[in-house]
Order: sequence, then structure tokens, then C-alpha cells
Amino acid sequence: MKFIADGMLGKLTRWLRMLGQDVKYSTQFEDEELIATAKKDHRVLLTRDAELYQRAIVRGIDAFYVDGRTEPERLAELAERFGFPLAIDLKRSRCPRCNSKIRSTPKEKLAGKVEKNTFIYYDEFWKCPKCGHIYWQGAHWGSIRATLEEAQRKVKVRSLV
Ligand SMILES: [Zn+2]
Repeated sequence: MKFIADGMLGKLTRWLRMLGQDVKYSTQFEDEELIATAKKDHRVLLTRDAELYQRAIVRGIDAFYVDGRTEPERLAELAERFGFPLAIDLKRSRCPRCNSKIRSTPKEKLAGKVEKNTFIYYDEFWKCPKCGHIYWQGAHWGSIRATLEEAQRKVKVRSLV
């Protein structure tokens, strides 16, 4: 499953990439470009624009209208519709910034490339081969997990309705 997201869905795009989903995104894409790329690459168009959604559907593009207001609501809708787990497996994660698959990187290779305290406190690091950004399960990891747990609860509630 591959996606392309409209320019209003930058935050959702980063979440989906962390969850391992392949999401093409640029704030520069015009509507026609979004539709053409979705068709050419067989990507599902994710959009908050009802008019764009209708145009895509009429032209036979697989599109999903993102209805939720918060990230947990949106993630729950998407997980339910497309059947992917709402859990981050860093072996499958993509770079939130550029969509490349991140790779586990030995700590010793990163000496001097991350802040000293980060280097001391953490042992596992991942690096994006394309943009070079380095990732670790830092202090923000708790809030990432809380957001995903909230999304999981919403999936459960939706399945009971
Ligand atoms: Zn990257």
C-alpha cells in the first residue's frame, strides 16, 4: 500500500512514515499533479479537500477523505480502512522527513554527530540514508506512544459501533 497526501496533511504524513507507510508528500503539488501521480504510481490519495476527493473518485483514483480532526482520530480511520498496525517498528519505519527507509546504525559511527548527552544515554540509533537525519527513541517517545495508544483505543471504539 502506497499513499500520496495533499499539502494539508504534513503532520499525518510524518506519522504514517514512522509507521512504515510509503507516503509521497509535497506542499508544492497542485491538485492535478496529485491525481496524476496517484494514478501513475498506484498510490491512494489522502485528502482533506472534499472537491479534490470527488474529482479523484470520478476519475477512478483510489482516494480516502480524511475526516478526523486530531492525529489519533485520523490514524484510527486509516488503520481501520487500510488494515495496518498502529505500532512503530523501527525496522520498518521510514524517515518522517523524506520517506526513505531508515537504517539501524552502530552507535560508534555516530560519535560527534549527536549531542554528547544523547550519545551517552541512548544505545540504539537509526539513520536516514537519503537525508542523513539521525533518530533515536528519545524523551519524545512517550508522547509518540501515547498518541498511538489513543488511536488504537479509537479503532476499538469504532469497531464496536
Ligand atoms: Zn530522510
